Amino acid sequence: LSIYQNKKGEDMQNETLAIHAGYDKKAGEKTMAVPIYQSTAYAFNNAEHAANLFALKELGNIYSRLTNPTTAVLEARFAAYDEALAAVATASGSSAIFYSIINLAAAGENFIAANNLYGGTTALFSYTLKRLGIEVRYFDPTNPSEIEKLIDDKTRAIFFESLSNPTIEIVDFEKIVAIADKYGILTICDNTVATPALFKPIKVGIDIAVYSTSKYVCGQGLGIGGMMVDSEKATAKIKANPRYPHFNEPDPSYHGLVYAATPFPLFALRARIALLRDIGAAPSPFNSWLFIQGLETLALRIKAHSEKALEVAKFLESHPKVKSVKYPGLSSHRDNALLKKYFTDKMASGLISFEVESYEEAKKIVDSVKLFTPVVNIGDSKSLITHPASTTHSQLSKEELKVAGIGESLVRLSIGLESPVDLIEDLKAAIEG
Ligand SMILES: *Cc1c(COP(=O)(O)O)cnc(C)c1O
Repeated sequence: LSIYQNKKGEDMQNETLAIHAGYDKKAGEKTMAVPIYQSTAYAFNNAEHAANLFALKELGNIYSRLTNPTTAVLEARFAAYDEALAAVATASGSSAIFYSIINLAAAGENFIAANNLYGGTTALFSYTLKRLGIEVRYFDPTNPSEIEKLIDDKTRAIFFESLSNPTIEIVDFEKIVAIADKYGILTICDNTVATPALFKPIKVGIDIAVYSTSKYVCGQGLGIGGMMVDSEKATAKIKANPRYPHFNEPDPSYHGLVYAATPFPLFALRARIALLRDIGAAPSPFNSWLFIQGLETLALRIKAHSEKALEVAKFLESHPKVKSVKYPGLSSHRDNALLKKYFTDKMASGLISFEVESYEEAKKIVDSVKLFTPVVNIGDSKSLITHPASTTHSQLSKEELKVAGIGESLVRLSIGLESPVDLIEDLKAAIEG
């Protein structure tokens, strides 16, 4: 059981690994399904065994705030699927994002973030992290060259979404990575909407990816969870880098351990043994088990969501009462070329946003649909509808809404797995009614 690091030399396709990695069916009770290890703590063989575990001389389970065997299977599979070196699961996507920033930046330091992020992430960055003394500097993701002007010697990370929620935009990853590499700064990509089925951040040179597994990874709206994945590149970038002294100097909270002197993936190691230890947003083993089920069918589901969404997007684009449609799968969309360049089979997920005439018109559509349910979630098998300006993004000021590209008449759809015939009929009635 690989607790910290994905095994090298597993030469299977990552879709296969997403179903088999990290679990030996022939060991233990030989259950085909991964068991739920619902346990808070783990027995030591003796005092020396305990001491070795605490000193990282031996790897093993101590306490479920740090590791859990069910969660370890999820982490191994996720890392394998994402072509990453290691993965650390958390209790929510929000906690994964919080940890990813504070793993790199401290009070008095800053990081750079795209201005079109998920509303909860913008609130975390602009308010909660600010109170902790960590400054966010926003850039326009359609113009990555802006990043360079924002960098100084206190900059610790560059954060962006691969497929933004709810504006459904794609950024030019290679441009951002090139700037980050030039200055030795880590890049963090929130890949929640695309998932590893559509886009693998580590493959294009991004250092760290974060996820809300509550969405497509789960797939049926059954639980909250998050994930951080680490790369060889991140470890190499952190080593001996003056931007990250806390990885390269002794950590007094861990009896003087120097993370960079260990053989483990550094970002994941510190996220686990310092951040999960101290802040404790550990996933529940039951939720990890749910996400293991989700991973088994993720590739199939994302394909179906994407195909159905494309049909719905085409219908919306042809409707005279719809002012604009944001779906990169449409050949008319600004980011269609980036989609073709970076995303598996040019698929764009089940998220679509569209604009109508007014705030009232948007609210009327949300109130009139019968098959779509008004919910602030995405990635469910059931189709969902949201009016971001009055819900997920209502805590943003008018100015912030404008910067984030969220008009008052914007409606967001998460296309589920129902027949597009029924979904289109429902939308048509609501738009025309
Ligand atoms: C939902 C979401 C989050 C937050 O994740 P939770 O699991 O709800 O905490 C972060 N980023 C994106 C893009 C999301 O859609």
